[in-house]
Amino acid sequence: MTASRFLLVFVDGLGLGPAGSENPLTQVQTMPCLAGLLGKPLLAGLTVAEGEVWFRPIDACLGVPGLPQSATGQTTLYTGHNAAQFRGQHQSAFANGSLRQLIEPYGIFRQVSNLGLAVTQANAYMPGYFKAIANRRRRYAVGALLNLTAPVPFRTLDDYRQGEAVYWDITGEMVECYYDEPGISAAVAGKRLIKLAQSHSFTLFETFLPDYAGHHQSREEAITVLQRIDALLSTLIQERPEDLTLILSSDHGNVEDLSTSHHTRNPVPLLVIGPGIPDFAGVTDLTGVTPAILSNLAGKIDTV
Ligand SMILES: [Zn+2]
Repeated sequence: MTASRFLLVFVDGLGLGPAGSENPLTQVQTMPCLAGLLGKPLLAGLTVAEGEVWFRPIDACLGVPGLPQSATGQTTLYTGHNAAQFRGQHQSAFANGSLRQLIEPYGIFRQVSNLGLAVTQANAYMPGYFKAIANRRRRYAVGALLNLTAPVPFRTLDDYRQGEAVYWDITGEMVECYYDEPGISAAVAGKRLIKLAQSHSFTLFETFLPDYAGHHQSREEAITVLQRIDALLSTLIQERPEDLTLILSSDHGNVEDLSTSHHTRNPVPLLVIGPGIPDFAGVTDLTGVTPAILSNLAGKIDTV
C-alpha cells in the first residue's frame, strides 16, 4: 500500500479578484512565495498545472444568491455536500442544528476515521474557548464540530506548549497575550504542521486572519496577515515530505476587495501540491474537495 497523506490549510475569506488598488494580492510582495511558485500573483483567472503544483479558482457561491458565508461554505468544503442549497441560503459564522445534520454523517474527520485512518485538527483550542462555550458566549464553528462529531480530541494549550499544535493566528500572538506562552514564527508553525501531518492521513489547519482583515477593510492588516500565511506556506512547501499532498482553499472571498467590508462572490483558490493532484482534476466548486481527498484515501486502501 502506498501511504497517502493530506494537509489542508483552510484560509477564511481569501478570494481571487481582479488586480487593482483595492486588492492587496495585486502586488507580488504580499505573498511572494506563492506568487513565485505560481508564476503570478493570486488573482482572478489564474490556473496552473505544472508538475507537482496545481492551482484553480473554484466557485464558492454554490448556486445560491447573496454573499457566501462561513458556516455554509465551511460545511460544504468539509462535507462535500452543498450546505447553502441544503439551508436555502448562505449562513454566517456558526453552525446551527441543521448544518450539524450534514456535519455529523459527512464531516471529513468522521469519514476519514471510518476508513480506519488517523485524522487530526492541528489548531490549538484554548481554555478560554471552552469557558466561553460553557457560558454560551460562543457557539461552535464548523471546524470544532468536525472534532466533536467524529469524534476527534481537541488539541489544547498543553499540546501547544509541547509543540504539537498551532493557534489559528499562526504565530500565537493571542496565546502570548492571554496565557503567557511565547509566540512562534510562521516557520516554526509550519514545522509543527508538517510533523503532525506525518503521523496522520488527514490533518486540518484553519486560519481566519484574512477574513478579519477584509471586514476591517485594513490594507496594512491584510498585507501583514497574507505575508504571514505566505511564510507558513513557504515552510510547508520546503519541508513537505514526498507522500504528503498540501491543499490550500477558502470558504468565500473577502480580503481581495478592500472597497467593501463584506464578503465577495469571487471564486476562491484551490491549490494542490503533491501526489494527490490527479484526484482534484474535476473539482469546480467547494463541494469537490472532501470527495477528492476521500477518493484518494479510499483508493489507496482498496489497492492493499
Ligand atoms: Zn467573514
